[in-house]
Amino acid sequence: MHTSRYAVQLTDVTKRYGDGPNAVLALDQVGAGIESGTFTAVMGPSGSGKSTFLHCAAGLDRPTAGEVRLGGQDLSGLRERRLTELRRTRVGFVFQAFNLLPSLTVEQNITLPLRLAGRRPEEAWLRHIVTVMDLGDRLTRHPAQLSGGQQQRVAIARALVTRPEVVFADEPTGALDPETARDILVLLRQAVTDLHQTVVMVTHDPIAAAHTDQVLFLSGGRVVDGMVDPRADRVAEVMSGLRRAV
Ligand code: ADP
Repeated sequence: MHTSRYAVQLTDVTKRYGDGPNAVLALDQVGAGIESGTFTAVMGPSGSGKSTFLHCAAGLDRPTAGEVRLGGQDLSGLRERRLTELRRTRVGFVFQAFNLLPSLTVEQNITLPLRLAGRRPEEAWLRHIVTVMDLGDRLTRHPAQLSGGQQQRVAIARALVTRPEVVFADEPTGALDPETARDILVLLRQAVTDLHQTVVMVTHDPIAAAHTDQVLFLSGGRVVDGMVDPRADRVAEVMSGLRRAV
């Protein structure tokens, strides 16, 4: 167990792609602390650095400068192998396109991160997340036999199975109709409130952001604004201001 109250902490994180005149500053001295047990949205206009933020925070990409701490651990000192291990066990991912393996059953998909890490499922935790995600009667099905919303529930269960420090969700409701999207957001909220997990979600949707505890707004690779207990109309206002400024 870690002692930091931050699940993820970025300090002066800069990410530059390329060199010389063609270099792109995707993140420019970003500082952000995501407290454990919270639900955070990362928003901003296209090209503002949201994906880069997510990738650096999750240890998928290394910053050019600055420090990323995951559960108190500084990622910059880690060799590639340790970083891979950390991504498998201490970070969960949920994607827009679900990214389930079609040949595996629901249960095998959910427990895959544990098998990759050479760990056994904790039965009680597994049952708990399967119940919260309402997948108990579908464990032997295959992804193709499920609706989009059900597939995303499997993906969330898979992201939670290792009890990660943080779950990163990249537009998790982008491929779903509004009603199903709402169900998924309620489940992500439950993962935080009932299962005491930490979720960081990139979204462009103010209604999705309104389900979170706080929003970080990015523009031009910098954190330019924040909002606690966001409401969709206020989020939409900030977003249109940022789009106008681009
Ligand atoms: P967002 O997710 O908000 O759309 P990104 O993080 O994808 O923004 O991109 C931020 C900036 O970095 C953009 O200008 C983008 O073109 C640039 N960028 C992202 N990834 C790369 C890359 N691999 N190589 C070069 N430029 C990149």
